Amino acid sequence: MKIAETIAEARRLREGLPGPVGLVPTMGFLHDGHLALIRRSRAENSLMVVSVFVNPAQFGPQEDFKTYPRDIERDLKILARENTDIVFLPSVEEMYPPGFDGWVDMGKIARRLEGASRPGHFRGVATVVAKLFNIVQPTKAYFGQKDAQQTIVIKKMVADLDMNLKVVTVPTVRETDGLAISSRNAYLNTEERQAAAVLYRSLCLGQQLWAEGEKGAGKIREQMTAFIQSEPFTTIDYVSIAEPETLEEMAVVKTPALVSLAVRIGKTRLIDNVVLE
Ligand code: AMP
Repeated sequence: MKIAETIAEARRLREGLPGPVGLVPTMGFLHDGHLALIRRSRAENSLMVVSVFVNPAQFGPQEDFKTYPRDIERDLKILARENTDIVFLPSVEEMYPPGFDGWVDMGKIARRLEGASRPGHFRGVATVVAKLFNIVQPTKAYFGQKDAQQTIVIKKMVADLDMNLKVVTVPTVRETDGLAISSRNAYLNTEERQAAAVLYRSLCLGQQLWAEGEKGAGKIREQMTAFIQSEPFTTIDYVSIAEPETLEEMAVVKTPALVSLAVRIGKTRLIDNVVLE
């Protein structure tokens, strides 16, 4: 396993090696969700690149960039064990040198849901991912369904800007009680961790109501909202039932539909989703 800390070094290592290249962009503090992407990439490519970069551009000024969990020594051990060929580990200065001022703005879909709650978030995500694609030039790049809107934004960026790679979406990996695995789960105390299971349970409730014949999106959202509010420590940011390409809210549920939510458990903001199809 080779470690590249500069863009020049990443390019040099990548050039020397032939075959389909898989890229898994991460912010590190690796968990089983990341491993699903890494193993899929390993299985489908002859060269496997993982980037570990906590991207300041996608955090708002009041968000957790400084306190975001990091453990690069542990991450490198995991990546070596998974037969990673190249780890790209740039510094903030390497990615955003003085004078940096070029941004990728993905328009309307980047301003809904997560984009509405976190202004500028997807500008930061799209910009860093475009840079990673240009640096690594992967054949395929792997993203998690857990961050559904992120995957949708990246797929649209690749389509709209004619980027020459395939974006693969990997299903969400969950704990036994259904909570989607996330680096931010580390912020939860024991009671909050128990309460956090309400996110996935409410998504299952929405799915069940729809399967039983309820097609009014408003009705489903209402029941999911009441269910979440019945759990302690919860503050709802949004509960959405939207068309998966445009992310426009639905009045009547038509498939496929993306049911997604963001809920604060204590101070920790968590997101999750399911697709009705
Ligand atoms: P992050 O390090 O949180 O930016 O995540 C890096 C990638 O891993 C993103 O494409 C995420 O969607 C994906 N990911 C994170 N958690 C999970 C999970 N529980 N299941 C599947 N993919 C995940």
